[in-house]
Amino acid sequence: MNFDFDDTEQRFQAAVRRYTQERLRPMSARWDRGERLTRDAIHELGELGVLGIRVPLALGGSEGSYVLAGIAAEELARGDLSITLLLQLSLIAADLIGAHGDPALRGQLLPKIASGERVVAFGLTETGAGSDAAAIRSTATQDGESWIISGEKASISLAGFADDCIVFARIEGAGTGARGMGAFVVPLDAPGVSREVYSSVGERVSERGALRFDAVRVPAQHQLGGGSGFVQAMEAFDYNRAIIALACLGTAAQSLDDTIEYTKARHTFGQPLARREGVAFQIAEHLTHVAAARHLAYHTLWLRDQGRGHTKEAAMAKWYAPKIAVEAIHACVVLHGWVGYDQTLPFGQRLRDVMGLEIGDGTPEIMKGVVAREVFGREFTAYR
Ligand SMILES: Cc1cc2nc3c(=O)[nH]c(=O)nc-3n(C[C@H](O)[C@H](O)[C@H](O)COP(=O)(O)OP(=O)(O)OC[C@H]3O[C@@H](n4cnc5c(N)ncnc54)[C@H](O)[C@@H]3O)c2cc1C
Repeated sequence: MNFDFDDTEQRFQAAVRRYTQERLRPMSARWDRGERLTRDAIHELGELGVLGIRVPLALGGSEGSYVLAGIAAEELARGDLSITLLLQLSLIAADLIGAHGDPALRGQLLPKIASGERVVAFGLTETGAGSDAAAIRSTATQDGESWIISGEKASISLAGFADDCIVFARIEGAGTGARGMGAFVVPLDAPGVSREVYSSVGERVSERGALRFDAVRVPAQHQLGGGSGFVQAMEAFDYNRAIIALACLGTAAQSLDDTIEYTKARHTFGQPLARREGVAFQIAEHLTHVAAARHLAYHTLWLRDQGRGHTKEAAMAKWYAPKIAVEAIHACVVLHGWVGYDQTLPFGQRLRDVMGLEIGDGTPEIMKGVVAREVFGREFTAYR
């Protein structure tokens, strides 16, 4: 067993941490108050190597490990949780397009994903189909050398500014349920596409919203794989759940670091807060939960890097880490007193941001269902 990051991972961690402290932390509150993410900021993430981790070397990426992606998530989230959505979506897009895309599409899109020139969203959820993703109603109809995509996607991260979206749609005549679904890369400047950005509780810079497709025509080569879109989606979800876990834990760890400093400096009744067991033990407990969840998440990514199964571990990390992150950040608010509840400090924003990832990419109930299915067997699953 070896719990150390290797030299490449350590250098990358230091570079991302530096970037986070210098560039992300000062911007985070401004983004929460409505300032939009600039293209320059996205290109900076590309230059830092964050967006090309799953892009092959030959196409401008670093072909890095999943553990490396976890490090990026954890470190970026110390500055701003929402920014990790750009990382997450670049990982998913690069993996899906890399594994299932037409060679011309791969050559065209992957270098631009790595550089930040194109941002690709992931369009699965609809108003009537979230946890039960196989119930989607968007359609894909073949018309000669094109596909015609129609439908509406809901709650799509980056909807306000993404350049393309991997849209999951029911292929006409291909059967019901999960079997009849396909995945298509749809450029969002195509005729028939419209967008709406939601007013979200948190993660505001991610411009989550709806994408509508009114008979949008895409070339046949924009289909990913065959009619196995749903299987592709589920493969992509598995490891991203550990990435989400590490993002939430990074935000919680930064909040605990901030609170350790604050409680050493703040005096009540003639003593620093940190000298009270009622305070220090709370922090000790939250640090313990964060450390345990962090090991689970990195273990999941390590399994993925070894090409081994990790569905159960990913689902465990996905329900557990956001929950304990919310609890830790909530404690940090209270341990700061009234000032922790003020907008001048980042704790309220962090709490709102992390709560979004309790839901996004699968709720706790669905994650526990996945763990149970892996343990008890498919015949006992409630979701069939
Ligand atoms: C911040 C954020 C980012 C997101 N980004 C994206 C994105 O980029 N792309 C995308 O496609 N989607 C995205 N989503 C959507 C997300 O994947 C869905 O919200 C999620 O899968 C849950 O679906 P739902 O909201 O329709 O809730 P529902 O499925 O309606 O569930 C509502 C509640 O009921 C519970 N529940 C449902 N079924 C069961 C059951 N069988 N047993 C017990 N409890 C159950 C759920 O756990 C939940 O608490 C995002 C969501 C958020 C909040």
